[in-house]
Amino acid sequence: MRSWPAPIIPRLPSDEGRLWLKNTATGRQEATGPTAGQARMYVCGITPYDATHLGHAFTYLTFDLVNRVWRDLGLTVSYTENVTDVDDPLLERATATGADWTALATDQIDLFRTDMTALRIIPPDHYLGVVESIDQVSRLIDRLRAAGVVYQVADPDYPDWYCTNSAPTFGSLSGLEPAAMEQLFAERGGDPDRPGKRHRLDALVWRLARPGEPSWESPWGRGRPGWHVECVALALDTLGPAFDLQGGGEDLIFPHHEMCAAQAFSATGQPLAEVYAHVGLVGLDGEKMSKSRGNLVFVSQLRRQGANPMAIRLALLAHHYRQPWSWTPSDLSDAEARLERWRTAANEGASQSSVATPAAATVAAMRAAVRDDLHADRALALVDAWAAEPGADRAEVVAAIDALLGVAL
Ligand code: ZN
Repeated sequence: MRSWPAPIIPRLPSDEGRLWLKNTATGRQEATGPTAGQARMYVCGITPYDATHLGHAFTYLTFDLVNRVWRDLGLTVSYTENVTDVDDPLLERATATGADWTALATDQIDLFRTDMTALRIIPPDHYLGVVESIDQVSRLIDRLRAAGVVYQVADPDYPDWYCTNSAPTFGSLSGLEPAAMEQLFAERGGDPDRPGKRHRLDALVWRLARPGEPSWESPWGRGRPGWHVECVALALDTLGPAFDLQGGGEDLIFPHHEMCAAQAFSATGQPLAEVYAHVGLVGLDGEKMSKSRGNLVFVSQLRRQGANPMAIRLALLAHHYRQPWSWTPSDLSDAEARLERWRTAANEGASQSSVATPAAATVAAMRAAVRDDLHADRALALVDAWAAEPGADRAEVVAAIDALLGVAL
């Protein structure tokens, strides 16, 4: 699948260090990515409807910071992102609105690309839809079957294929008790009560074709992939096992990432990722932002209303990624005022003030902030202080604002 154009990223003078991220699986901050060579990251992509709301934008911006920190550390990055371009919620939305599901997906993927480009998000190296990856998914199901964890549900009409979460590590990512797992599984697309399953938490890997639903030929019968197996197949195919980082919104910890990890372990005997990082959810005016409440705020809508994409980016960067927060109009107006102050500092003459912090010290402190669990919020405060007394060597700070924070002044 076509991704989107890459922003040009300035190179800063080289500097050693590591990226430290809080690993959801251990609860500890851990060095993430190799010390040299290639870093590998997988971020779960959108199901193409309701793109790109601010929760999506906050997630992809977070992992864009990871990408930028790794590059600044001299690493190359192999980054995979999927598009769940066939799934129940997409088909339900298409049916509800009378749209053709492929047309709905195509429009929403185009909108997502436009939003990501405007926000200066570095595109994935492997941007893959499910529809174009049916063979990869099918091969993974084959491996899982060879490992003895895949079976057909006892249903005379639709004996769909399921995978048992038999990996010894199952549960270690979320740390949830079985009752909590079952509840979240039911809330987030799972089917614990389906008759004929061996275990209530077993996950669908291949759904046989129902009348009127899209389907593809496979050794498992005509049908379409389940959700978790899709991400595992694409991740293993492009990055291999035990890659450096898997990311997504915190609502993906369970069941999605837990079940991805279990399936990958069953197929390869290795963990899927070394570190898992999750992004806090974004609300609106103190309420959870959700489809059912109809209170989603979209990047495209803000752009249509005249918001500068760099101000939208700054508004999101002002919040630490792990902290759930709620969007209010002042997020944008504060960010617009900040962008203006920074631009003035960048473009107008230096104050030559004797109290100005040397540019190199500001850049070093910005690097330290983002390498420490992606504290962009702290980096913004450092740039604010610089913008109040810009001093000489402005270009050095302007390049760091672009390279590390992705904000072009
Ligand atoms: Zn995923």
